[in-house]
Amino acid sequence: MTPSVRIKTDLDIRSFHPQSKTLMGPGPSDVSARVLKALGQTTLGHLDPDFTDLMDELKQLLGYAFQTDNKLTFAVSAPGSAGMETAFVNLVEPGDKVIVCINGVFGSRMKENVERIGGIAVVVADEWGSPVDPEKVETVLKANPDAKFVAFVHAETSTGVLSDAATLCRLAREHGCMSIVDTVTSLGGSPLFVDDWGIDAVYSGSQKCLSAPPGLSPVSFSSLAVKTIRERKTKVQSWFLDLNLVMGYWDGQGGRTYHHTAPVNAMYALHEALVMLQEEGLDAAWARHTAMHERLRDGLQELGIDYLVNPESRLPQLNSVLIPDQYVNEEAAIRRKLLDEHHLEIGAGLGTLAGKVWRIGLMGYGASQKNVDYCLQALRQVL
Ligand SMILES: *Cc1c(COP(=O)(O)O)cnc(C)c1O
Repeated sequence: MTPSVRIKTDLDIRSFHPQSKTLMGPGPSDVSARVLKALGQTTLGHLDPDFTDLMDELKQLLGYAFQTDNKLTFAVSAPGSAGMETAFVNLVEPGDKVIVCINGVFGSRMKENVERIGGIAVVVADEWGSPVDPEKVETVLKANPDAKFVAFVHAETSTGVLSDAATLCRLAREHGCMSIVDTVTSLGGSPLFVDDWGIDAVYSGSQKCLSAPPGLSPVSFSSLAVKTIRERKTKVQSWFLDLNLVMGYWDGQGGRTYHHTAPVNAMYALHEALVMLQEEGLDAAWARHTAMHERLRDGLQELGIDYLVNPESRLPQLNSVLIPDQYVNEEAAIRRKLLDEHHLEIGAGLGTLAGKVWRIGLMGYGASQKNVDYCLQALRQVL
């Protein structure tokens, strides 16, 4: 007997129409109407020639954003965490030694990736709120001549700290290591020069300083990294993320072959966000993030709110601020009030910084005078 439809939904469920909010947390950031409009265009087949033309343009636009000529530059069909995993599962083989710098949440995730692969993670730890210390990295490189990779986070979103990627990549190279760099929060917000700094594997996210909707992870691999991936002794443990297979779809050499169905509309949105970045220019975008950060900093100062991080390593796009003593007990209620009464989202502290800091994002389209002033005004009212 054929079963009958028995499981029913709640009849109250109707189309979803979210209240529009101002996103000033650690990402996603505010998406412009222009990018949302691009997202809503007609869906094409993922092998349609018009769509593969867009994929080719996307590779070029990402090359600009990353400042790289790397041929293997594209967007993984999944969020930043999948970009991280793509870099690690493709490059690291069981038994490989990886120097992992940890100064916040995302460095710890890198270590987790290495260990799940069966690699050996040698940790260089720095305090949460401080940048990665190149001297410590150099000492560990000298003590581990068999290490193959150095991995670190350029912009630690959990703490608001920028590390010196140029120096860390140079040290890695001098000691015969490849570099794996997390630029999820730096891409589009802070100067980043993948080729000039000699980064071998880099990944980012669509929803931070690019201000596209979440769900795509721009990545780029140097020719040395590609050679390493092609010459692996073992199969990549993940079928979905195996670049040897994904390259057949993105590379287009000898025709594109089906690997998975790309999130077509999400890629329209990322393309539009990158066109906007190209129109503004990278230098101008970086300068805008700095100018908005300074405006926010001056306003917070008037409210008696200080920063966690020293001025020289502060991220303009992620402002980690110390919650004043008198508000520590109500910090969650204050964030809730900002959300309910002002439709404004700011971020909470993570890990050891939970309850101690707020994280105010000024990312991409959200790095605007309008957002800075709105946030300051809302804080003034709520505090
Ligand atoms: C947000 C973030 C990630 C993870 O990206 P998702 O898109 O959330 O998976 C990784 N690293 C850093 C530094 C981030 O800020």
